[in-house]
Amino acid sequence: MTAPTRVPVRTRTSADLIRAEEPVLAHNYHPLPVVVARAEGTWVEDVEGRRYLDMLAGYSALNFGHRHPALVEAAHAQLDRLTLTSRAFHNDRLAEFAERLAQLTGQDMVLPMNTGAEAVESGIKVARKWAYDVKGVPADRATIVVAADNFHGRTTTIVSFSTDETARAGFGPFTPGFRVVPYNDLAALEAAVDETTAAVLIEPIQGEAGVVIPDEGYLTGVRELTHREGCLFIADEIQSGLGRTGRTLAVEHEGVVPDVLLLGKALGGGIVPVSAVVGRRDVLGVLRPGEHGSTFGGNPLAAAVGTAVVELLETGEFQRRAAELGAVLRDGLADLVGKGVIGFRSRGLWAGVDIDPALGTGREISQGLLGEGVLAKDTHGSTIRLAPPLTITEAELVSALGALARVLGRG
Ligand SMILES: *Cc1c(COP(=O)(O)O)cnc(C)c1O
Repeated sequence: MTAPTRVPVRTRTSADLIRAEEPVLAHNYHPLPVVVARAEGTWVEDVEGRRYLDMLAGYSALNFGHRHPALVEAAHAQLDRLTLTSRAFHNDRLAEFAERLAQLTGQDMVLPMNTGAEAVESGIKVARKWAYDVKGVPADRATIVVAADNFHGRTTTIVSFSTDETARAGFGPFTPGFRVVPYNDLAALEAAVDETTAAVLIEPIQGEAGVVIPDEGYLTGVRELTHREGCLFIADEIQSGLGRTGRTLAVEHEGVVPDVLLLGKALGGGIVPVSAVVGRRDVLGVLRPGEHGSTFGGNPLAAAVGTAVVELLETGEFQRRAAELGAVLRDGLADLVGKGVIGFRSRGLWAGVDIDPALGTGREISQGLLGEGVLAKDTHGSTIRLAPPLTITEAELVSALGALARVLGRG
């Protein structure tokens, strides 16, 4: 008797691999039908060797492209020396990472975590602790004001203040203490803030909502309001930060300095999950030993990669590229308005493009782009998000816009 033959893993086709996932992987995603096997820079290659231009960049986790040489080198060098200590001990990489990240972002202190959701959770905990210890809010009464259509991650506390029913339904009971107001509405924010308010937590640009950019003056208004009311301004820059919009931080477009920044995604250079809460000493200083932690947070490998990421951003090159090529992206999209695009919002190398629903859903357009050798992803309805690596060339960007024009022209 011979054992039933199985297709060896290495020779499985994309179709085999997609089929193989179905019974063994939880269905919490609905990926486009492409199976990526290798990547470099702005390009990925599937199992069959077809090449695609990456116009999503891991939702901004790949701001420096796939396997940026400086980041891969930093990771390799660290892998050969020390990877994990836990925070039970010090490691020789963490001080430099914290110093340089604080310096880059104009803040005092860093709380290293791993995923974006953990940074948000940590920011919430710090804000609550600050409200009780510093502001004097009565125990368990602290509130945090957030915006409708937010995306801050997937934990039970974070989905407690999501307004996306798909993200919430079936996951209650929810964490209390959050007030939701419309985004880009200072009057609503003002009405929601009171003496119990620990913080206002917003994205300076709402990524998952479709790259929604608030009116000029909103972020300044949030800063002034939170100063006046004596509560913290927490900016979730996990997707908008680290070069994406043409500045190190999206809040810089209004010259605003929040009390707390949440960073993630690109901080790990597309190699390892690295996130951080970065803030003023009088805020992050409320944490005492034992009150918060993470086994992997601040590990030497993460710190080495994170330091290399900060080093790339210190050059200003990526912010400059995002600003310059962002103009090419904006002009290219403007040319498509009325030709299948009904509107778009962009800042730097980041755009939310509303496609005429008559031409198809966002997913159908993304499928069409896949057929043209371009990876992109819909957000909601007929909106496509474009967020290429900041290393993309002008010619590559123009070719991606050409592919979009062809897909829309066929619709
Ligand atoms: C992606 C994202 C998060 C969550 O990050 P994870 O690493 O997926 O947990 C939080 N906030 C914003 C704005 C994001 O874009």
